[in-house]
Amino acid sequence: MNEEIDLFEQYKTLPQEVQNILAKYDDGDNTYENCQNLVNDLETVGYTCNYDLDAMPYGLRKLVLDCPLCNCALTSFIEDSTEIRECEACGAEWEKTTGEITLNP
Ligand SMILES: [Zn+2]
Repeated sequence: MNEEIDLFEQYKTLPQEVQNILAKYDDGDNTYENCQNLVNDLETVGYTCNYDLDAMPYGLRKLVLDCPLCNCALTSFIEDSTEIRECEACGAEWEKTTGEITLNP
């Protein structure tokens, strides 16, 4: 479950709307502001990514909006400045920063 997912490496498989957003920011001008705008734009189409200290985006992935187990909408809250989304039905937690899903049986 800990497999590193980075859809930046599978550019061609991405929906056109995502490719359009990436193309818009693909001008080599990597600033934190640009990165934040990129993340904001990606989230409007259900995706997100991280960026490193050099303002290089990485870790592009689909936003988890529904519980992978029961498909109900996740409740979002902030813990230690990290956004966590939790399923109230089964207790599964999804951490936005890492994209990791924790299942709590
Ligand atoms: Zn659930």
